[in-house]
Amino acid sequence: MQTPSLAQLPLTALNGVGAKFAETLSKLDLYSVQDLLFHLPFRYVDRSRVRSIASLRMGDMALIEASVLSSQIQFGRRRSLNIKVEDESGRLSLRFFHFNAAQKNSFEAGRLVRLFGELRPGSSGLELYHPEYEFIDEKTQQQDSEAKLTPVYQLCDGVSQPRLRKLCEQALELLKQHSPEELLDADINRHFAVSSLADALALLHAPPAESDQQLLLDGLHPAQQRLAFEELLAHYLVHQRQRAKNKQQQAPCIEVRSEDLKPLLDSLPFSPTGAQRRVVDEIAADIKQSQPMLRMVQGDVGSGKTLVAALAALAAVRNGLQVAVVAPTEILAEQHLNNFSSWLQPLGLRCDWLVGKLTAKQKKASYDKLAKHECDIVIGTHALFQDKVKFRHLGLVIIDEQHRFGVAQRLSLRDKNLSELVPHQLVMTATPIPRTLAMTAYAELDFSVIDELPPGRTPIQTVAISQKRKSEVIARVAVAVSEGRQVYWVCPLIEESETLSAANAETAFSELSTALPGISCSLIHGRLKPAEKEQRMSEFKHGDSQVLIATTVIEVGVDVPQASVMIIENPERLGLAQLHQLRGRVGRGTIASHCILLYGDKLSEHGKKRLQVLRESSDGFYIAEKDLEMRGPGEFLGKRQAGDMLYRVADQERDAPMLSFVHDYGQNLLQQQPERAEKLIQRWFGQRQHYALA
Ligand code: ADP
Ligand code: MG
Repeated sequence: MQTPSLAQLPLTALNGVGAKFAETLSKLDLYSVQDLLFHLPFRYVDRSRVRSIASLRMGDMALIEASVLSSQIQFGRRRSLNIKVEDESGRLSLRFFHFNAAQKNSFEAGRLVRLFGELRPGSSGLELYHPEYEFIDEKTQQQDSEAKLTPVYQLCDGVSQPRLRKLCEQALELLKQHSPEELLDADINRHFAVSSLADALALLHAPPAESDQQLLLDGLHPAQQRLAFEELLAHYLVHQRQRAKNKQQQAPCIEVRSEDLKPLLDSLPFSPTGAQRRVVDEIAADIKQSQPMLRMVQGDVGSGKTLVAALAALAAVRNGLQVAVVAPTEILAEQHLNNFSSWLQPLGLRCDWLVGKLTAKQKKASYDKLAKHECDIVIGTHALFQDKVKFRHLGLVIIDEQHRFGVAQRLSLRDKNLSELVPHQLVMTATPIPRTLAMTAYAELDFSVIDELPPGRTPIQTVAISQKRKSEVIARVAVAVSEGRQVYWVCPLIEESETLSAANAETAFSELSTALPGISCSLIHGRLKPAEKEQRMSEFKHGDSQVLIATTVIEVGVDVPQASVMIIENPERLGLAQLHQLRGRVGRGTIASHCILLYGDKLSEHGKKRLQVLRESSDGFYIAEKDLEMRGPGEFLGKRQAGDMLYRVADQERDAPMLSFVHDYGQNLLQQQPERAEKLIQRWFGQRQHYALA
């Protein structure tokens, strides 16, 4: 008898999942029970390390078990929920800014609760802000005396860890009856020393007490390695397939003639660096071909990627083609529009823009111009992905700051021509992509590197200061503002939750607003609506606010020349490469810039060494290399940067040694068993691939 496969079983088949919750789960790309089983924990919390309240220090990430004393709503500057708990050693407050009545009521006095979160200073001493929590009843307590590791999953708003864990428990029950298909040779299970795929999945979602806890914490357990292999393989396959499809498509040939570029170069107050020239040549060699280019240009912040893009755009237009430039935000689109217009309009090129905030009538006018080829270069945001946007002769798509867009969206731009031709694609990023990642996550792209900065930049002075001296730092902010400078104050991102990150930034915002009377502060984080973010960013850009308190959402290339001071709180939690990106937001004007790394109380020797790298160097590639070198597998903080988010169980550095095996195996599979390759892609990409492979 044919039983329905787990892939066909929708999540609504599970208890507690209605249409609405299913919709929320789809934000995590979870649709079927199988998707849920492959939504693997990206780390574990070691529950054998329960701390006593008395032993807690500011800045600790800690696991606590305590009983509830009281639950109360407080009306201060902002309404918040305050819960008091205690264990044998002492008392502690929890604070929530985002909460509902049910949540408040669930904290009944006397209930036992397990908490995980970071200790921050609060109005009543140490507080846990938006901790992850789970009530402990007798049943769970019993289970816990056996198992020690709790899985931690990637979340989105509306899904909590405990809720996701409950769903996984149900999925594991179903797994006992229906095993997912073994798509790899039996050798592979033997190679990784696992008995079956189903066993490996079950172990990772609910590690039994007798499993090797340290291996699991380090991501080196056979079950993790077996699945990491399959995941990396699926990524490899998807990109190889994309490369193959790409080869079959027709693109317009673009001849890059130096007499076409000369007028632009002559109009500049500087000459291009050697690296810029070389990259333009690499692009020229590609776009001459009738197969679409798929090339990524990596160049450190300030290396001058925009000029390279403008030169390519100019060449395309001189070949009778149109160009689309896509930026991740309206601010950046506006910035590019200014650059492109000032450089190219004098040469007779028609530039236009297309962003969400235009009126319907303005948009319509833009669409018309594109379809009739009355516009040569359009610069825009997501608005360019709209179906209504069609081009008469689109020859080149330039995408700035790649990681903000999915492969999905990127590829959707390829069908924008009214003709059959597929445009060339140029992707620009300031994030150095390690070679290993380039080989899997971006395997369909070719790479160019702008490895030279324009001469004459004043380096940013970077210092590391302990959080204990925060008040001095705030005083320095006041001085900087009085000198007409603007300041970024960056709060750390909490990896699995936007809510936590936002709460963090909100706390810093109230603290700074109070400490800096008469100075206009503004706040930006991931929970704001895009329009609000744009609004606040634009206020800052235009000098209407002096201090911008932000989570790492500001990472992407905004240019505010007056902003010459940046404070980064808890830099030890971010990867060095990411810190470098952030720091690149200052040092754009003519004034000397400063970056203050405000590290937490318990910075280890290793942590100090890492920050030292940033103080010594301003070379993004050197920093990225050091970053890889210095991060051991045991360290989870600051690990999940742009690229890592791509994977669920694999880790680009940890698993790098298996990549050549992945490639050999993948090539073989594509030749010998292409239908299996398809199934693997389907399993790991599921719904996402409709776009990814369009
Ligand atoms: P990014 O690579 O971060 O996008 P931009 O393209 O914004 O960098 O360039 C940063 C600044 O450097 C801009 O003001 C740009 O005009 C300038 N610039 C670009 N190329 C050169 C060059 N070869 N010499 C001097 N300045 C340059
Ligand atoms: Mg840029």
